[in-house]
Amino acid sequence: MKEIYIFGHKNPDTDSILSALVLEAIEKTMGVKNAKAYRLGEINKETKYVLDYFGVKPPEFLEKVEEGREVMLVDHNEFSQSVEGIENAKVIRVVDHHKIANFATNEPIFFLAMPVGATATILREMCKVSGIRMDKVTAGLMLSAIISDTLLLKSPTTTDKDREAAEELAEIAEVDLNHYGLGMLRAGADLSEYSPMELINIDSKPFLTNGVKYQVAQINTVSIEDVLKDKEAIEEAINQYIKENNLDLFVFMITDIIENNSQIIVLGKQDIAEKAFNTKLEENTAFISGLVSRKKQVVPAIDKVIG
Ligand code: MG
Ligand code: MG
Ligand code: MG
Repeated sequence: MKEIYIFGHKNPDTDSILSALVLEAIEKTMGVKNAKAYRLGEINKETKYVLDYFGVKPPEFLEKVEEGREVMLVDHNEFSQSVEGIENAKVIRVVDHHKIANFATNEPIFFLAMPVGATATILREMCKVSGIRMDKVTAGLMLSAIISDTLLLKSPTTTDKDREAAEELAEIAEVDLNHYGLGMLRAGADLSEYSPMELINIDSKPFLTNGVKYQVAQINTVSIEDVLKDKEAIEEAINQYIKENNLDLFVFMITDIIENNSQIIVLGKQDIAEKAFNTKLEENTAFISGLVSRKKQVVPAIDKVIG
């Protein structure tokens, strides 16, 4: 029996890695024994913290999929963010919390999308509906994905479902939500070992709207000031990335996970970003109060300008 691959998006974040693992567990409980989680890129420090904490092995790396291979997507649906060969694979399931864009299939599929803070919140709903018991580790993984995507329930993407899920999952996982959550976010905010090019690729996604090709990358920090010390080198990396990928625009979000604001560095068609955020860039950068979500704040604002 061939494996059914489960994976989240490229440049995987915590939700993408953990939701793939959790969906594998759910599928196995429901009798789909050949379902297996994979990753499409390196594990970041935040995700590593979680896997170490709960003693879970990271999924194996998947480079591409062959024609006709059955796959399940979590935490994304846009093919530009997916695995190589996805166009000719057979997508049989999608569980996601992003906008639906450029997605179509030849056959009916299971497609579960909800506007909640994390894919893991939707997976918890699946467990509830199907009467699946969540063990300590699975609950811990779901909780961690929710903490990561909602910045400990502070992002504007956070819904009541996420809050309710986090509370219950923390209890099953036997962790203190705030203490554990802060430890996890801080582990992810350790940027000391990254080169500028790695920094802009930790959590970076491409978008295509009305022919405008743009990229939005985000890093978490406890000190925007510290990151800005490398501003020139970061700008150099962004310019190189723009050139190599033929982009119109690159927005780099440096997000303060304690204060919940972001500094943005913008290169390319800066006027689009200035309109989107109603701001004036100075030396390619601006501080935007309350900005933390790419999905709910950045991408819709940019799409509104170019759409
Ligand atoms: Mg994600
Ligand atoms: Mg997510
Ligand atoms: Mg994210």
